Amino acid sequence: MPMTFRSRLADPVELRRLREDLEAREPAAILDFGYRCFSALTLVASFQAESCALIDMAARIAPAERLRVVTLDTGRLPEETHELIDRVRDRYGIAVEVWLPDATEVASLVTREGANLFRRSVELRHTCCDVRKRQPLRGALAGADAWVTGLRREQSASRAATPVIELDPEHGGIVKLAPLVRWTASDVEAYLDRHDVPRHALYARGYTSIGCAPCTRATGPGEDPRAGRWWWERGEPKECGLHPAHPAMVAAAARTSSAA
Ligand code: SF4
Repeated sequence: MPMTFRSRLADPVELRRLREDLEAREPAAILDFGYRCFSALTLVASFQAESCALIDMAARIAPAERLRVVTLDTGRLPEETHELIDRVRDRYGIAVEVWLPDATEVASLVTREGANLFRRSVELRHTCCDVRKRQPLRGALAGADAWVTGLRREQSASRAATPVIELDPEHGGIVKLAPLVRWTASDVEAYLDRHDVPRHALYARGYTSIGCAPCTRATGPGEDPRAGRWWWERGEPKECGLHPAHPAMVAAAARTSSAA
């Protein structure tokens, strides 16, 4: 069934119909759909609030042996993320599959450009994210037929048109599900409170988005929630390349800039 179902989604009409159907459903129902339709569904967790909510939902829907939770350990994560991974592993009794970047590539990059190359240019920042995040994600998703992300439309302009389901050309055309697209930050908070889900410790210290330690800072009142990511860059999308902007957003951004 999974391959048959996935191949059906290659039909744009079928995909649009399914997208409209899922758009009206609650996140848990979208996740339930994922576990029923895909045998190798992979939840990719950054261990921010959204992924913790999704892991909790998944644990209520599917047996532990069906939960494949993957995380990308870039080698530059804050200690608090590692602590949270351990808490989640214990709380839900699941294995968290940790994918590391290729050690030879990291050594070569750091030898050539230095450990903090990302501060020198946007291009070098993208190179670092490519080696430490994008390439490991490709490896992690190689055997998957669908993956789940915690993207929300409210998070940034580049995520405002995120579809609830799409085919992901970056990863061999597998299905990409974003069950939380319609949720606000308050919805996520309310879920974590309701189910006493473990939280990343850095939220209590003013962080509103959490990634690698040297590339994330706390945000101040009125700042965009993702303003603390790569905060030294000006005008660049706050993305590391794991989630390329949806074509509709690229077109909207181009219209805005040509009108300005
Ligand atoms: Fe490198 Fe920073 Fe990207 Fe982490 S967030 S992979 S340290 S550039």
